[in-house]
Formats: sequence, structure tokens, C-alpha cells
Amino acid sequence: MRSKHPPPAELDPRIGKLERHVQALMQELHQARYEQRRESLRDPLTGLANRLALVSAFIQAQDAMKYGASPPALLLLNLDGFKALKNSAGYAAADQTLVTVAMRIRSAVRENDVVARLGGDEFAILLPATAQGKATAVGNRILAALEQSIDLGNNSIRCRASLGLRIAEPHHSAEDLLQEADMAMEESKSEGRNKLKVFDPDMLHARQLQRQIVGELREAIRSDQLVLYYQPIVELATGRIEGSEALVRWNHPVHGIIMPDQFVPVAEATGLIAELGRWVLRAAVGQLRRWRLNESTARHKFSMQINVSAADLQSLEFVDDVREVLAGAGLPPESLVLELTESAIIHNNELDRYTLASLQRLGVGLDIDDFGAGYSSMGYLRKLPVGRVKVDKQFVQELGRDPEQLGFIAAIQRVIRSCGLEGVWEGIETAEQAEALRSIGCTSGQGYYFGRPLPEPEFTAQLARQSVWPAS
Ligand code: C2E
Ligand code: CA
Ligand code: CA
Repeated sequence: MRSKHPPPAELDPRIGKLERHVQALMQELHQARYEQRRESLRDPLTGLANRLALVSAFIQAQDAMKYGASPPALLLLNLDGFKALKNSAGYAAADQTLVTVAMRIRSAVRENDVVARLGGDEFAILLPATAQGKATAVGNRILAALEQSIDLGNNSIRCRASLGLRIAEPHHSAEDLLQEADMAMEESKSEGRNKLKVFDPDMLHARQLQRQIVGELREAIRSDQLVLYYQPIVELATGRIEGSEALVRWNHPVHGIIMPDQFVPVAEATGLIAELGRWVLRAAVGQLRRWRLNESTARHKFSMQINVSAADLQSLEFVDDVREVLAGAGLPPESLVLELTESAIIHNNELDRYTLASLQRLGVGLDIDDFGAGYSSMGYLRKLPVGRVKVDKQFVQELGRDPEQLGFIAAIQRVIRSCGLEGVWEGIETAEQAEALRSIGCTSGQGYYFGRPLPEPEFTAQLARQSVWPAS
């Protein structure tokens, strides 16, 4: 008769073998689970921790605070100009840069500090149990580690970063901490990059204020609280008006007239700029139509110039909007000129090129705005389908202060012409400046001397009254 109990392993060699096999399998399974867990906490490109691992390290550090440990600090790091690098050098080079940056950050911190990549070019470093002075020193060490150029095979680049620092408070959730470190990081970006900024509660107030402005601005666009002022662009030799630049203002029910530098950047940062841009386009083109139809102003044949922001070039609907608005007003495309700043077109990515080429095909004018204020790469002057170059006012404003300035302006003028383009000189405030520019053959200008930006009724009255600018 067979026993109910299985024989001990040593008695049956087959069972012993089976047991060992099962054991080995179990171990493999454990190992695989462990690997899987580790992988789920890791950023595959750089091998750093990911967001999940960062959050879990934060929870641990915060737990330790309950037992008397110092609070953890979070450093949030964003690379400066990474998007431009990706567009110009390609994805492989961008990935290689991220891997190098990851290694440099890792080597600038201690073993038990958690370095994570949160996605894109955003990194976070959690320093458990620390103090502000120490965390600042670590942040500066990271900035120093990124100073060295990165070798990408056939070229080498400099990839600096902006850093935000926030020491955790006991009531903080991981989300709070990330958000406040992000505010500090954004501030360091807007202050010229390659910097470390420590979170300050004022930043929270600024953010709340911005939120309030965004809400009000959205309403302002819908309820026509925006108004356009117009400033003439004139032919220097004759004073004839060649164009009117539409400059937006916000007629706020409580605060009165608000200038564009107070709300255009907010609109750009929050995506409201597309709506604002559409409003400006419609209003300006509608106004030009009225001037062309009105008996007292119709003899002036000039174009409307509007300011276009970088976001508009990135929008696929923008070209259609322009085409529709012009067709709706029955105006030829060349009656509209779009002003683009260098920083708006310098990205030079596929979408920009597509939009610029489509606008050119449509036949609207394209001017570069604020030339000389930013990057001023002469190379792209020749490559872009632009008509005129508006030279930033700083150059004219130096006239009269520096005897060499007129020679300098003449040199800029030669460069612009050698690219087959024409210059428009901004910021002409005096008769002497206008005369000096005329004397070296500059053809067009704009500035307070010829006229300040005026609300529509006053601009219309000027047009009706005089045939040339300025009034003599
Ligand atoms: P911008 O395009 O360079 O416009 C010229 C600015 O210089 C205007 O300021 C104008 O009032 C000022 N200006 C004109 N002549 C002179 C002068 O002789 N001397 C001096 N010191 N300044 C002069 P504003 O109206 O405050 O506009 C500031 C900026 O806001 C504009 O600079 C433009 O970048 C932006 N902006 C204005 N309207 C719009 C808009 O409708 N859409 C967008 N995206 N941006 C706009
Ligand atoms: Ca402009
Ligand atoms: Ca300008």
C-alpha cells in the first residue's frame, strides 16, 4: 500500500530535482519583479530616477521630518535654449546632451541625493535633510558643472541651466513643492537664465495676480476693452505716410489705459495671445478699410502694420485668418504688413518656415521688428522672405550723444541694403535725428517727432487735415 505522505526529498531524487527547479524559477521571478520595479522608477534615457521615484523619496524625507530631521530641499532645473538645440542639432544630439547633463548633475551631488528627470529637459534634485545654505551651494555646484562645453562628436555646445530652489514645509505635498520650485525656476529663467533662484512667497502673489490678469484679459478681448492706437511710418524725404503701425492698449474699467508691455507678455505666456492677435488683426484691417473708403482720408495710400508674436507663427490657422480677414475687408494682401521680431523668427523651425512661406505666397508684407535689439544674425536677413527691416530705436537715440553713431548707422544701412532689403528707422524724436538719417540716404522712419501713437479719431483727423507728416 502507498503512503499518504510524499516521501522525503532525499528518498526520491526526482522530487529533489523538481524542488530545486521551482526554487530557481521563484528566484528568477523575484529578480524580474525587482528589476521591473526598479525600471518603473527609472528614466530610461538617463538612468536617473523618474517622477514616481522622486515623489516617493520626498514622502520618506518628509516622514523623517516628523522624527526631527531637517526638511528636504528640491532643486528644479531646466536647460536654457534646449528647444533651439533640438531643432538645430537634431534629436540624437539632444539626447546625448541630456545624458551628459544627467551625469554632470549626478557627479555634483552626494550619493543619497535623488536626481530625477521629470521629462524633456527638466531635472529635479531632492536633497534629504538639508538647509537653505547647503542646498544653494549644491545648486551653484551644479551650475558650475554645466559650465563646461559638451562634446557632440562633430561640434561642441554650451548648455546652461536655470534653477529654482524650494525648502519643503511640513504642510507641503509633493505637488506643492514641485510647483513652488517651478515658480522659482521660471523667475530665474526670466531674469536672464544660468541662475539659481530661491522661492519667495512674493512669487506666489505674482502668480495669483497673473491669474487674475489672464481672467480679466480674456474678458477684455471678448467685450472690446482693447483699443488700437496708430503711429505713422513716414517717407523721410517727403513726409508722406507709408504705413500706420497698430499698437494695442487695454482700456481697463478700473485701471484705465494699460500699455502692451504690461499684458502682451502675460498673454504670450498663457496662450491668450492667439485670441489677442486675432482681435488686433480684425480691428486693424477693418480700420484700414474705413480709411480707404472714407472720402476725407482715401487719398492717403498707406499700409497697415501689425505686430505678430512668435505663437502666431506656430499656429496653423494664422495664415487662414489673415487670408479671410483681408478677403472679408476686400483689401489686397499687400495692404497689410506683419511685423515680426527677431526672436519670433529665430527659432526657424519647420512650422515657422511653413507659415512664413505661406504668408509670402499670400502676398502680405513681412517686416523684421526691433532689428539689433536681440540676436541680430545677419545670415538670416538674407534667407528670410522679409521686405523691410525696422531698426531698433536704440541706434537713433544714440545720435547726438556719440559722434561716431551716424557712421555706425550708415554701416547698418549698408548691411541691410546688401541683403537686398530696406531699413525703417524707429525712435526718431527730433528734427535733427530725422535730418541726420536723411543725409545718409535713409528712406523711412517712425517716432514721436512724426507723431506719437494716437487713438483712431485723432489719427483720422490728422489724416483728413494734412497730406504729409509732420505738421509744419
Ligand atoms: P514695438 O513694436 O517696437 O512698437 C514701438 C514702440 O515704441 C511703441 O510702444 C511705441 O509707442 C514706441 N515708440 C514709437 N516711437 C517712439 C519714439 O520716438 N521714442 C520712444 N521712446 N518710443 C517710441 P508701445 O505702444 O508701448 O508698444 C510696446 C511693444 O508692445 C511694441 O513694441 C510691441 O512689441 C508690443 N505690441 C504693441 N501692440 C501689439 C500687438 O497688437 N500685438 C503684439 N503681439 N505686440 C504688440
Ligand atoms: Ca512693431
Ligand atoms: Ca519696434
